[in-house]
Amino acid sequence: MSKKILQTTVVGSYPRLSYVVEAVAKYKKKLISKEELKKITDHATTEVVEEQIKAGIDIIADGEQYREDMEVYFAERISGFKEGDWIRIWGNNYYRKPIVHKKVGFIAPMTVEDYLLAEKVTAGRAQVKQMYTGPYTIADWAFNDAYDSKADLVLDLARILHKETKELEKKGCPYIQIDEPALSTHNSKDELEIARQAIEIVTKGVKAKTAIHICYGDFENIFPGLLDFKIDLIDLEFTNNQFKTLDIIKKYDFNKELGFGCVDVHTKRVESKEEVKENIKKALKILPPEKIYPKPDCGLKLLTREIAFKKLCVISEAVKELRAEL
Ligand SMILES: [Zn+2]
Repeated sequence: MSKKILQTTVVGSYPRLSYVVEAVAKYKKKLISKEELKKITDHATTEVVEEQIKAGIDIIADGEQYREDMEVYFAERISGFKEGDWIRIWGNNYYRKPIVHKKVGFIAPMTVEDYLLAEKVTAGRAQVKQMYTGPYTIADWAFNDAYDSKADLVLDLARILHKETKELEKKGCPYIQIDEPALSTHNSKDELEIARQAIEIVTKGVKAKTAIHICYGDFENIFPGLLDFKIDLIDLEFTNNQFKTLDIIKKYDFNKELGFGCVDVHTKRVESKEEVKENIKKALKILPPEKIYPKPDCGLKLLTREIAFKKLCVISEAVKELRAEL
């Protein structure tokens, strides 16, 4: 069997479908029940899974239609958190920063049902990966009123997410992605070391492919330390920072697989196929094609559905041509 090369994937989120946005607004006004909302988001999941397959993506995700944000969603499903006050994060975007008020604990699987739904819809036409917010980011984006140190909190969250990972693996999930965007916003070796220990706990004994996604921050400070993480694949943003990340990683012996951001999700302009091919060729100068996973820089949720779909299509068209040329 020939080696799989340049397998295309996504980071995770897909633009929320308009009827999901409407349903969430109704749910907040208590006009529909949690069960009714779930039916609607499940239907949206089936649509966005189909859309990713139609775009020709090899490894798809559930599209996170059910997720309001990547912090509160998990804080609500782990014991030991309580709701906090509204905090402004960027622009006019606010979230309720959760508070850790006692020891955190695993309640039930948080992503398994969504994985299984995506897998069922996909029915073997693509691989399905599952993603969740990592222990370092969950801790970093919450107030800690319970633990003596941030490290203790992060490592306890890592034990919870290890359980989650094992549950996903048990259900056959082949590819599990840990989202750690907070990691690139801190520039101390101590913080990176906390995250390294946490990931070691999360991925211990896991045979499924494990990945870490990090974006929009200072990558200079997380390399080469990130290469010591017990993880199979590092998934980063490249296009938005004009491939400066490549200049950083090529300084080191890159011993992982690479999730390679080859389209920018912060611009509505859809890149041309030639542009995307040129972008991927930059990664091919550093790594062999079986280690490169072309994908958008980050989740697609801030784009319109139409543009998100077009960006995925152009990735798979570019890869199709590159595979024939290699
Ligand atoms: Zn991201």
